[in-house]
Amino acid sequence: MAKKKESIEEELAAKKESMWLTLKKREIEDAMKFSEDYKKFLAEVKTEREAVRYIVTEAEKHGFKDLAKKKSLAPGDKFYLINREKTVALGVVGKKPLEGFRLVVSHIDAPRIDLKPNPVWEDGDAALALFKTHYYGGIKKYQWVSRPLALHGVVYTKEGKRIEVKIGDNPGDPVFVIPDLLPHLARNVQGDRKLFEGIKGEELQLVVGNIPINDKEIKQKVKIQILKYLNEKYGIVEEDFNSADIEIVPAAQPRDVGFDRSMVGAYGHDDRICAYTSLRAILEVKEPTYTSIAFFYDKEEIGSDGNVGAQSNFLEYVLAKVVNLIKPGYLHVEFMDMLYKSKAISADVSAAINPIFKSVHDIPNAAKAGYGVVISKYTGHGGKYSSSEATAEFMSEIRALFAKYNVPYQVAELGKVDEGGGGTIAKFFAKYGMDVVDMGPGIIGMHSPFEIASKMDVWSAYRAYKVFLSQ
Ligand code: MN
Ligand code: MN
Repeated sequence: MAKKKESIEEELAAKKESMWLTLKKREIEDAMKFSEDYKKFLAEVKTEREAVRYIVTEAEKHGFKDLAKKKSLAPGDKFYLINREKTVALGVVGKKPLEGFRLVVSHIDAPRIDLKPNPVWEDGDAALALFKTHYYGGIKKYQWVSRPLALHGVVYTKEGKRIEVKIGDNPGDPVFVIPDLLPHLARNVQGDRKLFEGIKGEELQLVVGNIPINDKEIKQKVKIQILKYLNEKYGIVEEDFNSADIEIVPAAQPRDVGFDRSMVGAYGHDDRICAYTSLRAILEVKEPTYTSIAFFYDKEEIGSDGNVGAQSNFLEYVLAKVVNLIKPGYLHVEFMDMLYKSKAISADVSAAINPIFKSVHDIPNAAKAGYGVVISKYTGHGGKYSSSEATAEFMSEIRALFAKYNVPYQVAELGKVDEGGGGTIAKFFAKYGMDVVDMGPGIIGMHSPFEIASKMDVWSAYRAYKVFLSQ
């Protein structure tokens, strides 16, 4: 007997629903609570150094120990290893510790603006002191002007004294601003520029002061007054900016978005949304079969180069240390074998459909806010260039795992073919032979100073990473 039309559709057609409708009431409450914790994390963490500090503090609270101080490792042991305050790994030794790893790899840097090494100058005509900057990562520069900005980072004096700078986030703090041009006078200077050049790199200059020092002998009176303030407050001199990592980040705090408070708006979702959800996941992993490790990398936004990026040998360094503490004197071929048998999630965000610019998406292959963590079989641009594509076999394995543990997810591409594209750190792990797939929440307004994520997608990412790391 022929089946009814609805039941054939039910049987054959893909069906995805909003998690707001499919989750049980109690789980929605858990998800909302989880996003409250996530907002606190985002309020506290605006740089990779702050992320590492937060991650290690939480790890220690949960019984993770510094791998550098361990003499041996056994199943159930929890460890962490820091790389220069900017990259960190957290792991739990599995019951079959040498049969391949389960890795979730995210990045904790975010697009921003850095200070130049010689930032301070005075524009005498304007009677203002300014900081020169150099942007970091793929920002649309015009989004960073005329909004309150904060300074976060460290400065080292010539003597090696470390000074922390964090100003602009507390309610009583002053903020800093890159002033845009008033529209009344912008016709010629900005009117004919293309959007992306609306503000140019050298125009990203931060206003930091206006009071001149009361001294006739001094030419750059406002600049010297600012240096005097910095010396009194932080004990630094102008040249100390040569040895500094100071980042300019939005001074705004994370906020609920929408009447229904369904979304989190904040700076740095990319990729701290994956860092936070995978941190919570690894903290809660108990007695996994395989050794589970969450990596949190710096420098993804500028290509993962350098000694704290995902192209460094930190992965091998951590894994070799772990294997050596479990089986001293292991063979190189055993190590390569373990890498080859490992499986990884490249935990990075995707794009959720922005209703105002829908044309960049192929809707059936685009992510929707609230429909769960986005699995990307491949990333890259053009004809899948620079992509590490997950095999059909691994995609099938992940689908089966999420079906078994009831993890909502959606499979999507970033945008339309030839519309643009983007890469992740998946390929740097895939080169060891392990299976890797990209997975993270869909974000609206990615790389802007105020990105949006659905609280359902935050929750779904956490559930997905936890299930994967708990195998
Ligand atoms: Mn990212
Ligand atoms: Mn990014």
